Amino acid sequence: MKLILLGAPGAGKGTQAEILSKMLNIPTISTGNILRAAMKNGTPVGLRAKEYVESGRLVPDEVIIGIVNERLAEPDCANGYILDGMPRTIPQAEALEESGIEIDCALSIEIEDQVIIERMSGRRTCKDCSQTFHVVSNPPKTEGKCDFCGGELTIRKDDAPETVKARLETYHRETEPLKAFYEARGKLKSVDNQPSIEATTDVIKAALGI
Ligand code: AMP
Repeated sequence: MKLILLGAPGAGKGTQAEILSKMLNIPTISTGNILRAAMKNGTPVGLRAKEYVESGRLVPDEVIIGIVNERLAEPDCANGYILDGMPRTIPQAEALEESGIEIDCALSIEIEDQVIIERMSGRRTCKDCSQTFHVVSNPPKTEGKCDFCGGELTIRKDDAPETVKARLETYHRETEPLKAFYEARGKLKSVDNQPSIEATTDVIKAALGI
């Protein structure tokens, strides 16, 4: 299964990708997580990406395409994968096609901007392993600490309210046109965000027939 998750920042792509990854036993490739790790480690990609990520703009396509091509060539991707946060522009989607990648489905999680703005304000991210939590809907067992690695939970710089607004604008302008791109290829499926993580997983499973 080669699956693309589409949806605004904060739509729950990362959370659902993680659930589906376990269920289908395939890796999730999250360009956001790869970029954050690169930034933390101060690699050349990280240094280049930093100003874009922190201001809510998209990292240049060629950087993303390079990262993803490299990652998809690894052996654990042989049986399929979930792309979380990539493609985010038409040129990125075209680059996947040009690499000969045939995806099975682009699944879009639909959610209103206002719900996202409320949701992002409660998001907490582990600074060590990138696991995300939410103070209300998905709290960690111990406040401020990651359930998985014990790392400190932080508010991502780009989850600040003014950056969230910029990211939503970027989403509507650059990423939303991908729905028409995949619709034209007969690959688009859309589901509505549900009040709970589990209920959203259920509608996704139904849409994918799994
Ligand atoms: P995410 O964790 O997916 O919300 O990504 C965080 C930030 O990383 C985005 O706001 C962008 O600045 C950058 N980013 C992640 N994926 C991409 C992509 N496919 N294309 C361009 N920029 C990206």
